[in-house]
Amino acid sequence: MSVVELHDVTKVYEGHVEALRGVDLTVERGELVAIVGPSGSGKSTMLHMIGTLDLPTTGTVRVAEYDVAELSDRELSALRARHLGFVFQQFHLAPGVSALDNVADGLLYSGIGLRARRELAASALERVGLGHRLGHRPNQLSGGEQQRVAVARAVAGDPPLLLADEPTGNLDSASGAEVLTVLGGLHAAGTTIAIITHDAEIAAWCHRQVRLRDGRIVADLTRAADLTGVADLTRNADPERAAGFEQGAPE
Ligand code: ADP
Repeated sequence: MSVVELHDVTKVYEGHVEALRGVDLTVERGELVAIVGPSGSGKSTMLHMIGTLDLPTTGTVRVAEYDVAELSDRELSALRARHLGFVFQQFHLAPGVSALDNVADGLLYSGIGLRARRELAASALERVGLGHRLGHRPNQLSGGEQQRVAVARAVAGDPPLLLADEPTGNLDSASGAEVLTVLGGLHAAGTTIAIITHDAEIAAWCHRQVRLRDGRIVADLTRAADLTGVADLTRNADPERAAGFEQGAPE
């Protein structure tokens, strides 16, 4: 089953900026896909379309089989709350608030009571390896740990799709690898993940690379061999692994 389908999506911003010029993309359940391309190629715009944060100018966006153009604002919020998790380059954690409550507050609009929110938050923090840091505030955590809190917040409600926009962009390489290992573990446990990245190593670590240029998909590559041992790949990731990628059949 597909979690996202974009059909002939265009996005024209004010001033006639054509950020997307007819994009077709299907992401199937269980994929780990990198969206790559130079600055200005339309990556963030595409993530905004997939994340239902903005609507296309023309074309269709389906998330979890809902046509987002047919949903009211309220229904869109509910779709985001139930189906999507977001991680950004900036951690966006509330200062002075414990890791547990930063994660639990991410579920404020889920209709779940405080106690259950905190239980889900604790379990999400365990999943990202921070079960021993529940009471720590952001300024008591390293950058890598803060981003792992942000990942826990994104997945606490178990969304089928996690969207990450340059999730390691603010981290040194060791902390970045730590965050990737967490993402790899979540993917192994069943979460579909789309990562926007500039980083060729991260792109090579993903199963699939969708390359954008000037608002168009110019390549859609799937690695033939499956991931084995995320930690190893994190350490050994090499852009030359792109040699192991195959051009997917055009849709
Ligand atoms: P990327 O994420 O690959 O850097 P973006 O999707 O941010 O690319 O941008 C694609 C193009 O759209 C760029 O030319 C950018 O300047 C333009 N753009 C992005 N957002 C807006 C906006 N809100 N208003 C006008 N132009 C925008």
